[in-house]
Amino acid sequence: MAMDRRVFLVLLLAGCADTSPQGPLTAVTPPPPAPQPRTPSAPPPVPATPVPAGELAFDTWLADFRIRALAAGLSAELLDRELAGVTPDPKVISLDSRQPEFSKPVGDYIKGVISDDRVAVGRRKREELAYLPTIEARYGVPRDILLAVWAMESAFGQLQGNFDVVRSMVSLAADGRRRAWAEGELIAALKIIDSGEVTRAQLKGSWAGAMGQTQFIPSSYRATAVDFDGDGRRDIWGSDADSLASAANLLAKGGWKPGVGWAKEVILPAGFDYSVTEGPREIPAWWEAKGVRRADGLPWTAADAASPAMLILPAGAAGPAFLALPNHFAIRTYNNSTSYALGIGLLADRFGGGDPPVTPWPVETPLSMSDRMAAQIALARVGFNPGPADGVIGAGTRKALRAWQQSQQLPADGYLSNDMVARLKAQAGITP
Ligand code: CA
Repeated sequence: MAMDRRVFLVLLLAGCADTSPQGPLTAVTPPPPAPQPRTPSAPPPVPATPVPAGELAFDTWLADFRIRALAAGLSAELLDRELAGVTPDPKVISLDSRQPEFSKPVGDYIKGVISDDRVAVGRRKREELAYLPTIEARYGVPRDILLAVWAMESAFGQLQGNFDVVRSMVSLAADGRRRAWAEGELIAALKIIDSGEVTRAQLKGSWAGAMGQTQFIPSSYRATAVDFDGDGRRDIWGSDADSLASAANLLAKGGWKPGVGWAKEVILPAGFDYSVTEGPREIPAWWEAKGVRRADGLPWTAADAASPAMLILPAGAAGPAFLALPNHFAIRTYNNSTSYALGIGLLADRFGGGDPPVTPWPVETPLSMSDRMAAQIALARVGFNPGPADGVIGAGTRKALRAWQQSQQLPADGYLSNDMVARLKAQAGITP
């Protein structure tokens, strides 16, 4: 499970997007298409041995990158050694351009995340790993959240990826679609090697450069990884303790609030105004005044009662509702996706002995890419701008959908179901 799903600055880490409901780039708008290689205005002299255009473009990029890497403080010796003979990895480019045809319904995603096997392993590790309470005390992040991150990112360290991170970043940078990001990560990877902390041979990760048990990209490793077991190395590949502490450090830096929850399932009253979904962040008492109550019937802790919470309906009005507490957003520094944060939180709850949500996940048919894009085109056509018609149902599309639903006197949950797609297409005059 080592695919890309986060990019740029908000998303600090990489991991396993094959479990993500919307495909490999769930949380982000996919970057624009790769620019075409420039063609010279006059044909160049024909060389004795013709060099393919792709190789020329790669060599040009590599020469340019070398100048930028020297300016970033890397030595000529290191660059000569580590980049000698490097070529782009066609497998990386192919995986990077993959567009999933169908988006997995969130209920199916959550069911995939919370398997009985995974819950059993997590509960066993919870008892076995004697250092967990120390990590929890040092960083303020509960052990169950750390175990859930570990489970999701690398199947408790079992699936780390075996790609040469330097070559992966060379491939992504040369390809151009995410050049600035990939060059930054390539420089970070080379600086890790330069530091002597990790060798090139040890610097392994997913095809997108997410490394080790925590699936940290190189810049996150440099800024965030910690040596918890005290052997002098920050070893997120071989040391469980270093990995769990590094994940805790990342979440702490991402704003984790000790003693506060991540979310609570709630039941909404009849006739509820769904348009406040993904809207205001208010304390639980504010929500209770609107008739929202906890699904488990338990009282709020003092810390949660004082925390602003946002209503989320991951599967729309037909599925479970949650009040997302501040730590929901801290989890999203790992991967900026509501579904991912929900998966982590619900898995952590199960590790701690909690129950699944009271309201079942609805059974749904996956939406195709063409349906998702048609819905976006239809929204724009009927006057509710969802942003680019890219098939990614992000916050902008959901907001436009809620506004359109309100205009139609439909429950404004912002959830794109098959029924909503059909209604939108009919209204916009898009034939099936
Ligand atoms: Ca260590």
